[in-house]
Amino acid sequence: MLLENVTWPEFEEAKKRIDTVIIPVGSVEAHGRHLPLGTDVFAPLEIAKRIEEKLRKMGKDVIIAPPVWYGHSFVLDVYPGTINVSADAFKAYTAEILREFAREGFRRLVLLNGHGGNHSPLILAAEEVAGEFDVEVWLIDWWIDFRKEILEVCSSQGHAGEDETSVILAIRPELVKMENAVGEKREEKIRVIRKDIGFELFPEGVNDDPRGASREKGEAILEKVSEGIVKLLVGKDE
Ligand SMILES: [Zn+2]
Repeated sequence: MLLENVTWPEFEEAKKRIDTVIIPVGSVEAHGRHLPLGTDVFAPLEIAKRIEEKLRKMGKDVIIAPPVWYGHSFVLDVYPGTINVSADAFKAYTAEILREFAREGFRRLVLLNGHGGNHSPLILAAEEVAGEFDVEVWLIDWWIDFRKEILEVCSSQGHAGEDETSVILAIRPELVKMENAVGEKREEKIRVIRKDIGFELFPEGVNDDPRGASREKGEAILEKVSEGIVKLLVGKDE
């Protein structure tokens, strides 16, 4: 159930039978010259919708909250179109959203995250709220937590890379400019924090080779990830 589409009495009714809310979280951020700025929200929102569909077939339901669009993106802020929110503001804002769903009575709050820079502030927000309410907050970084499954489909993964490009080819093919898709994997042994490090680590906003991406791979990833999350959700119910 998409929260934004129902009335408050419908929501009040739904709460009686639904204890889980999925909150997609992403960023507005440069993803090379080939992927849209909204990539990090498109992916988790699509995964959430597939989770809902699978659960419905099992006679279960979840609430999908409207996504948190703006995230924390220090590194990629060197490229036009990255709209970076400070970690403190992002953490505080996300904690407020979690708190509200906790007050509404949900017991399991799932942060379905699509963006790496959000990871640390989301943990802090989750710890804050989990300390105040009798709730369980799940943080799912889909491309990290399901890396093993993704690498069964793709030869590599990375920012605007083969996996992410494949996923957007499956969801919004009209927005992908494959003719501009180039890049290579760059790893740092240690983490260096410097305001222009993004130019080195993510040349043109890419850190992986996206040229092997395909719609079919994207479909396979979306299925594996959504199926994996459904198993976790249902396992916890039983
Ligand atoms: Zn991304």
